[in-house]
Amino acid sequence: MPIKHHLHEPTLLAYATGNLPEAVNLVVAAHVSLCDECRALAETFDTVGGALLEETAAVGLEQDSLDRALARIETEAPAPRAPVSPGTLPAPVQAYVGGDLSAVKWRPVGMGVKQALLPTSDTASARLLLIPAGAAIPDHSHSGQEFTLVLQGAFADEEDRFARGDIEIADDKVHHQPVADIGEDCICLAVTDAPLKFSGWLPRMVQRFVGI
Ligand code: ZN
Ligand code: ZN
Repeated sequence: MPIKHHLHEPTLLAYATGNLPEAVNLVVAAHVSLCDECRALAETFDTVGGALLEETAAVGLEQDSLDRALARIETEAPAPRAPVSPGTLPAPVQAYVGGDLSAVKWRPVGMGVKQALLPTSDTASARLLLIPAGAAIPDHSHSGQEFTLVLQGAFADEEDRFARGDIEIADDKVHHQPVADIGEDCICLAVTDAPLKFSGWLPRMVQRFVGI
């Protein structure tokens, strides 16, 4: 099944130039490792970005500001090149988990759903979510952006259906209730740059304890 839901170009541009928060960088790297189309685009942006930098330098910055710019380029980590991995978890995710699915330390968050927080250094947060086959995540809206990348199984919500490799990008205008397909547990990498807003009082209570 070809990937149907992709990243937006500005996100890929920010990724190629190393300008994403760590958690968002992770979900983008994970999608890029599964998606030839977005990987090709990210590589193009990377090349164009490099050429632009050279051109700017050639036009004649003052020597010391040029030195500073070059020093910065050398010290800044480049956007990680994600190798294609054979496991369920893409290589960039395995780097955080310390292995494939069997290494994930799941914690129940209620209603059969499990999560594993991945340690990232900024305000955006990254977690693996396991939604049992046929089960639902409580309906919610978002304060910021939410990136949900499917790694196993599939889910459907009010927007569409999402299978392995598909990424759903939800913002503050989206209110949805993802439901996992019957037949296989759905595992996703979910990254949010602000906490979710749940509609029901029970999920809100749970949220206070698990920080979803
Ligand atoms: Zn893509
Ligand atoms: Zn959501």
